[in-house]
Amino acid sequence: MRVGVVALQGDVSEHVDALKKAISERGEKGEVVTIKHSGITPTCDALILPGGESTTLGHLLVYEGIADEIKKAASDGVPIMGTCAGLILMAKSGEGQVQKTRQYLLSIMDTTVNRNAFGRQRESFETKLDVSVFDSPYIAIFIRAPAIVKCGESVKTLAKIDDYVVAAEQGNLMALAFHPELTDDLRFHHHFLDKIS
Ligand code: GLN
Repeated sequence: MRVGVVALQGDVSEHVDALKKAISERGEKGEVVTIKHSGITPTCDALILPGGESTTLGHLLVYEGIADEIKKAASDGVPIMGTCAGLILMAKSGEGQVQKTRQYLLSIMDTTVNRNAFGRQRESFETKLDVSVFDSPYIAIFIRAPAIVKCGESVKTLAKIDDYVVAAEQGNLMALAFHPELTDDLRFHHHFLDKIS
């Protein structure tokens, strides 16, 4: 398997390390590559869109010609995991700031997002989440986190905080509002890698 991590900005190396660790835990052979320009995305069996700054990431994805390649991969069924800013970029539409600033969105997942859902008081926090596909709670790290405020019918909620959906999947696509690459608990990476056929 060849997994690509979009490496234009944000917490790329943490995802690369977490993926390598998860692949070796599975005892599988796999390669992790970074995506800095067009031409690499179509060679990958799975893709990760890391956290960072969604406005900058959106501009760079379009400028580098990677955005259209990701859209094609999404419709071809390639597994894609977006974390934090990546969750924003995968969405079909946005509320509040996302809408006002005309944030670029890949529109690959049937979700509506709110960019800084948890506000300034709770800029960064850790919390225990009940995740529908895990049999014990998961400690999630949130950093200026967005959230999904609306989901289409084909989107499955994996975890919520109050009314906000913070983890969801839609077929080959998975979006997390938090940072699974910053903990040793790699269950979300494994759940994602399970989607590679
Ligand atoms: N709130 C940030 C944004 O909108 C995302 C934060 C993150 O990825 N840690 O871009």
